[in-house]
Parts: sequence; structure tokens; C-alpha cells
Amino acid sequence: MNIQLCIELAGLVAAFLLIYGLKRMSSPVTAHGGIVLAGVGMLVVIVASFFHVLDVPAAARAGLGLKIGLAALALALGLGWAGWTGRRVAITAMPQMVALYNGMGGGAAAAIAAAELVAGTGTGLAHWGVTLLGAAIGSISLSGSVVAWAKLDGRLGAPWRVRGQQFINAGVLAALVLLGAGILIMPGGAGTSALAVLFFGAAFALGVLVTLPIGGADMPVVISLYNAFTGLAVGLDGYVLGNPVLMIAGMVVGSAGTLLTLLMARAMNRSVRNVLFSNFGDIAEASGEAMSGRLKPTEASDAAIAMRYAGKVIIAPGYGLAAAQAQHKLYELVKLLQAAGVAVKFAIHPVAGRMPGHMDVLLAEAGVPYDLLYERDDINAEFADTDIALVIGANDVVNPAARTEKSSPIYGMPILDVDRAHQIYVIKRGQGKGYAGVENALFYADNCNMVYGDAQAVLTRMVQAIKALGEDAAPDRAA
Ligand code: NDP
Repeated sequence: MNIQLCIELAGLVAAFLLIYGLKRMSSPVTAHGGIVLAGVGMLVVIVASFFHVLDVPAAARAGLGLKIGLAALALALGLGWAGWTGRRVAITAMPQMVALYNGMGGGAAAAIAAAELVAGTGTGLAHWGVTLLGAAIGSISLSGSVVAWAKLDGRLGAPWRVRGQQFINAGVLAALVLLGAGILIMPGGAGTSALAVLFFGAAFALGVLVTLPIGGADMPVVISLYNAFTGLAVGLDGYVLGNPVLMIAGMVVGSAGTLLTLLMARAMNRSVRNVLFSNFGDIAEASGEAMSGRLKPTEASDAAIAMRYAGKVIIAPGYGLAAAQAQHKLYELVKLLQAAGVAVKFAIHPVAGRMPGHMDVLLAEAGVPYDLLYERDDINAEFADTDIALVIGANDVVNPAARTEKSSPIYGMPILDVDRAHQIYVIKRGQGKGYAGVENALFYADNCNMVYGDAQAVLTRMVQAIKALGEDAAPDRAA
């Protein structure tokens, strides 16, 4: 069969696998299979692009075996390295890994565009315009993703901001457009290489300058946005190279990244513009207000015994559960409560934690069955007839100010209505604020007690307390 036809068929197969894989990722039950399908789809894209770009049969006939071998070795090294690091990465370091790999995708797209600019054979304004757009977007995605990785990994500290930052960024963007226009006017001319170097420098600088002022906790949204950028850059490269498989894969990644960015921003009741330009942490800090009522600390064992004798407990996990890596201990506690006849459910907020689906992934890692996990809209009505709500390392996603305080930076963010439960216990280490930097009136409510300590240590004490009650406690409750 004709090699070009094979490549086009591979594009169709890859498109089907990627889209069907994404669809299966929409439920935790089918997500694993969806990831495998999309992975196979991406492998089809890689192999098809390898044959398309190198034109392997023609290259072999021309005696370019060494070139083919080197390209295959590069692919094998990349696949092997990604597979090895992907298996070893800790769940808490997942956002960093995504940032880094996304940056590499952007860099690869920029490199393809650079090669085309320097030695390309294409003609026409559309060809060069699309090449430049892919080069700029890929470069911004690379440098921005590296800054995002450094922030998430704790290698870059507080957000870097200077007066007139937006004007500097606008100036660099204007320079980028002018340099691009210069290359368009004289593509392939003597000065093109020099202009191209400046063009790439401006694009890299823009990625760094736009990302540096954004707070570390907003990085998941930023990474998702850069992921969309990378997809777009790859899709544009597919057009430049006349490679339909690359175009399809790039567009699927680009649209999935765009949707994810919008969904994350919507779940936080913020716009993407607000995430990128608002200096969210600073505003929140300024609007902190005094709380009425008092904090009422209690012992882990008292909270555990209350849960042991409750009829229904809903657990609201948040970022602190992930930080403490306490998911296994939590499931141990849940199994003890269930064995004692307590109905236990988990209330999952879409932006609890620091990445999309953070809590689902964390609890799945500990073996918590999916049918215990309920999304916010499906469980909020149940809090009113719940004996105990156990909040573990969550803060913003259970802050009633989002419903009532118009001046609060989180006003309008849909929250878990844990405050409507008969009794609330909150596990956290001290009086640290959440990601939004605002006080939480829930902790001062009459029906709320604080169980201070690292989530791992507190849950360990709770498990011990319930075990210490002994087997003979079960009949009491039944009676
Ligand atoms: P928060 O960040 O609001 O609060 C976490 C709480 O956990 C803190 O108050 C902290 O208090 C406590 N904590 C931290 N470490 C521990 C520990 N080891 N043991 C026990 N407690 C601990 O988390 P939420 O999950 O409630 O909210 C997530 C926030 O992140 C939202 O504002 C959301 O918009 C934002 N966000 C989410 C993204 C996502 O994709 N999921 C992306 C970007 C932002 P203390 O220091 O006193 O222990």
C-alpha cells in the first residue's frame, strides 16, 4: 500500500483513539482505559510522523540509514525516559512533571518551526505566517512552562512583579509582532536568520515575563493554558509540514487544554484573564476580615469516637490531605467506620487540591471505591441531614463566605455546604489560611471543632482511638 495513504489512515485511527480516549477519561471508572487508548493514539501519531517527516522508504533507498537510525534512537530515548520518570513521579509532583513535559512539547513545536524558517522550502504568505505563529506560541509555551515548573517545584519564590509590568509585556509583544513582520517581508533573505534569533528571544522572554508575576498556586491553570498553546503550535506545525496526523493530534490537545482551562477557571468562579493578571493572592490578603466567635480545639480521639457512633459521616478532603499524604490512613479510618455501620461518603469539590481531579486521583491511589465519591452538586443537599462532616486539609472549598460575603475574593465560588451538617470537625495544622488567603468563618461556627495537627498524624490517632474501643462497641450502636 502507498505510504502516504497509510499515513493518512493512521491519522484517522489516531483521531478516533484520542477522542474516544478523552471521552472515557470523563469517568473515574473508565479513565484508566481512556488513558491507555489515548496513549496508543499518541504512539500512532509518533510512528506516522516519523515515516512522514523522514520519508523512510525514500531515505533508505538513498542510503540514509544512519539518519534514520539516529532519529529512531532519539525517539527510543525520549519514550524510555518519559516512561521511566512517569512511573517514578510522586503524586504530589505530578503538576511539575506535566509542566515540564508540556514545555518540551512547546519547545519541539518551536524547533520544527525554526528549522522551517531557516531551511524551509515552503512559499507564500500563509505558509510563513503559520510557521511564525507556531514558532511564537511554541516558544512562549516552552519558557512559560519552565517558569511554572520552577514555581511548583519551589525553585522560584514569591511572584516577581515590577511597576508597569503590563507595559513591559506589551512592549515585548509589539517587538515580537514587528520582528515577525520583518521575517514575513523578506523570507529567506540574508537578514532572516538574525531576525529569527531576535524573534525567538522575544517569544521566550514573553513566556517568562507573563508567567513570573503569577502566584504559584495558580500554576495548574497556567499549565493547562500552556498545554492548549502547545497543542495549537503542534497543529500549526502539522499544517506547515503538510502532516495531517500532527494537525489532528495538535488540535485535539489544543481544544482539550482550552476546555480544561475554562472549566478550572469557572470552578474557581474566576476568568482566565483574572488568573493571569489579577495578582490574586495580594488582593485576598488585603481583604482579610476579623471573625466573630472562637476556635474550639478538640482531641482527635473525641472526634473519632463521635464519628464511630454517628449514623452518617461525609468527608470533605482538600489540599492538606495531599500535602500530608494521608490518603491511606484516611481509607483505614473509613473502613473502620463502615465496619461499625456508619454510612460514609466523600464530597469532592472540582478544585479541591492543586490540580484538576487531585482528590479523585489521591483517593483512587489509596483504593477508595469510586462509588463512595460524590461530586459537589450531587452531595450538597445531603449535608443538612448528615451527623458529622469531617473536613481534612480543606479550606477555601468549604468557606461559607463564598455564598455570603460579596467583598470576599472567593465570593460566588461554588462550595461544599459542610456548614449545614449537624457537627463539623476540621483537621488542619494551625491557623494557616487556604490558597485564596482569606479567613474562614466555618472554623468559628458553634457546630465546628478544630482537630489540630498534620492530617497523617491526626488520622493515625483517630484510627487508634476507634480500634481501642474494641469489637464489643458495635452491638451498642445497633441497639
Ligand atoms: P486550601 O489551599 O484552601 O486549604 C488547604 C488547607 O490545608 C490550609 O488551610 C492548611 O491549613 C491545611 N493544610 C496544609 N497542609 C496540611 C497538612 N499537612 N495537614 C493538615 N492540614 C494541612 O485547599 P482547598 O483544597 O480547600 O482549596 C483549593 C484551593 O486551590 C482553591 O482556592 C482552588 O481555587 C485553588 N486551586 C485549585 C486548583 C485545582 O486545579 N484543584 C488549581 C489552582 C488553584 P494549615 O496551614 O493551618 O494546616
